[in-house]
Amino acid sequence: MRARRTYGLHSYQMKTAAAILVELGKPLEIAELEVPALRAGQVLVEIAFAGICHTQLSEARGERGADPFLPHCLGHEATGSVLEIGPGVVKVKTGDQVVLSWIKDTGADIPGSVYRWGERDVNAGAITTFQRHAVVSENRLTPLPQELGMKTAVLLGCALPTGMGAVVNTAAATASESIAIFGAGGVGLCAILGAVAMECAPIVAVDPNPRRRELASAAGATHTIDPTQTDPVAAIAELIPPRADIAIEATGIPSVMAQALDAVRPRGGRAVIIGNARRGEQLVLDPRAFNDGKRLLGCWGGDTVPSRDLPRFADLIATGRVDVQPLLSPPVALRQINEALSDLESGRVGRPFLDLSLA
Ligand SMILES: [Zn+2]
Repeated sequence: MRARRTYGLHSYQMKTAAAILVELGKPLEIAELEVPALRAGQVLVEIAFAGICHTQLSEARGERGADPFLPHCLGHEATGSVLEIGPGVVKVKTGDQVVLSWIKDTGADIPGSVYRWGERDVNAGAITTFQRHAVVSENRLTPLPQELGMKTAVLLGCALPTGMGAVVNTAAATASESIAIFGAGGVGLCAILGAVAMECAPIVAVDPNPRRRELASAAGATHTIDPTQTDPVAAIAELIPPRADIAIEATGIPSVMAQALDAVRPRGGRAVIIGNARRGEQLVLDPRAFNDGKRLLGCWGGDTVPSRDLPRFADLIATGRVDVQPLLSPPVALRQINEALSDLESGRVGRPFLDLSLA
């Protein structure tokens, strides 16, 4: 039993290091936080690896609008080990290795926690991961598929379920269907892996960044298009006449979402929108696309149900049917998080990772 301290309503059990967002548009700060005692349905996890995705970048840069929760913890994709479970938790036990995901699964759905930083409160959602220890809601945890290591499995927290799920679940792709993927960041690369797993052909990746086009080819794209050099919709129409069976949008740019719909064939072509637009942006579409029988689909985390889908996705990786190596850049230490965010912003790295064991 750890010593408990109390401030007002909250009691605290231990200290940990975390990268927290104090002010929009400013670098994250590394802080020593006091970890709150567990409530019913919560789990204390020692984080091993955490992925950094565009959601946290846009949060940190203030692109998601006013943030009433500052200062707060961040991150929604990780792996780790269970240190302690709160009352009523049955899904995991102390010592279990787990995947942490923002996508809700079975188990108690417990809202966020409040950490203590000196004299200040620091807010956290039901899952946060840019820290050595985190209090997580039971329904954001799934047992780690045993065939994957903690480092590879971190992708199961957000990128793979979202990107692969958009192809496998939302678009329900079948073998030999053609597919165009707009955006080859972490999620777009995972959509390419989903297309490989479903044996789609051809697999066309569109991205202005040459490094990301290289990664797309390594992940299994059969063709790549630089949208700054050629109209991607015309290029897709020429490559896959009349157009693609499926398009996946993973950029968050509304004009690209419109291109995704434009890029699918009449009568049954489907476009899936994954990217998060900046707050206040609007999407303009030609409504005749719908009269042509095209379908525009949204998705929530690739419509993934973690306890159902993560073992399937892990099996695809473990058996070598998809190659996640292009996504796995060398992990960095927590103190390097601001460089990692810049690497993500510049496209130098498809998906940066933190190794929380590094000093
Ligand atoms: Zn994410």
